[in-house]
Amino acid sequence: MTDQLDQPDDVNLADLPTPPGTHDLLAKFQPLIREREALLATGVRDPFAIVMTEVKSPTRAIIDGRDTILLGTYNYMGMTFDPDVVAAGKDALDRFGSGTTGSRVLNGTYHPHKDVEEALRDFYGTSSAIVFSTGYQANLGVISTLAGKGDYIILDADSHASIYDGCWLGNAEVVRFRHNSVDDLDRRLGRLPKEAGKLVVLEGVYSMFGDVAPLPEMVKVAKKHGAMVLCDEAHGMGFFGANGRGVYEELGCEADIDFVVGTFSKSVGTVGGFCVSNHPDFEVLRLVCRPYVFTASLPPSVVATAAASIRKLKNAADKRAHLWKNSRRLHAGLRELGFTIATETAQSAIIAVMMPEQETTVALWQALLEGGLYVNMARPPATPAGTFLLRCSLCAEHSDEEVGQILRIFEDAGRAVGCIA
Ligand code: PMP
Repeated sequence: MTDQLDQPDDVNLADLPTPPGTHDLLAKFQPLIREREALLATGVRDPFAIVMTEVKSPTRAIIDGRDTILLGTYNYMGMTFDPDVVAAGKDALDRFGSGTTGSRVLNGTYHPHKDVEEALRDFYGTSSAIVFSTGYQANLGVISTLAGKGDYIILDADSHASIYDGCWLGNAEVVRFRHNSVDDLDRRLGRLPKEAGKLVVLEGVYSMFGDVAPLPEMVKVAKKHGAMVLCDEAHGMGFFGANGRGVYEELGCEADIDFVVGTFSKSVGTVGGFCVSNHPDFEVLRLVCRPYVFTASLPPSVVATAAASIRKLKNAADKRAHLWKNSRRLHAGLRELGFTIATETAQSAIIAVMMPEQETTVALWQALLEGGLYVNMARPPATPAGTFLLRCSLCAEHSDEEVGQILRIFEDAGRAVGCIA
């Protein structure tokens, strides 16, 4: 036996015939493969294959050899190059090594993991904080563990994929309500058995359209029906509320949200996820939550950067004010140019430019890139069926001059592609 494959290096797996009688499990993806090939055959760049060869700051990178303004990152508070954050990561790398090689419940809890949970408890003012390896895993783990057989999960139809996947991982019954509709939530909760356990899952900011949930009204309805409430503040943390906790803080419903899920991959500027709660038994999740137990913990350098960043975010009122200014200016400027924006006013750091269909979306996306601006192209399944958009996410580190440049690039690209007059 040898562990070397007995094949030449340049063998292309796609050229190997599928043995007769084998049901090709990838065949179901042929329509998508063909759609993508047809799109690329028109000569456009692949919007899902961008490489940043150099990253100069939270708002600038080199893409295809060109200095590009970044308007499609989740780096809302611009913490990725903060000197204290970077120093904390380097120090932890030196002191604790590159990784833990183990689960949080075995050998994977180092001092920095405890420290970041302490930073989170302080930031959120809660009695408990549990850190996961990603925000995706936090939703997967918390939702599937809280709501089990015989319980109900009631979620907004536009919920993030990690929330849906958390529902599928568990055994609870899943009920969806119309996006941001308090009446529909009330109606659907009213149809469920009174005595059953219920978890209402909401998001502070919905990441595709950048709209904010009517949390006080939603929470009131949930409580009326005896449901617990989980709020995902992935896109609200850092930016909303006096302490940067999220939309639920800004809208004054801290006392009624039972669980807050968040991520380190957006305003915090690194990677990781968490859930905070004041529930006295919340810590039991460390024993029963599979996406917490059965995976390796985050590298100590990552959690050390997160802890440094979270402590700075608490006192970042000036950055929050500048980010609001940027967001309002971009929203108004794009509307003035004739673009259609998903929300009437700037509701968050996300400004979604609505597009008619895929071809024009990709054409405008490419024209922007060629003009020196990167935004996210979003299409189903990330967006609701039939919806195409270009998502702009602002950063507190975008200067006034950069926002002006962004608007000029949109104007030129929009005219070239024929999206605006
Ligand atoms: N929740 C929401 C609402 C998100 O938008 C995302 C990521 N885009 C996540 C959770 C997952 O976060 P992470 O990147 O840390 O896995």
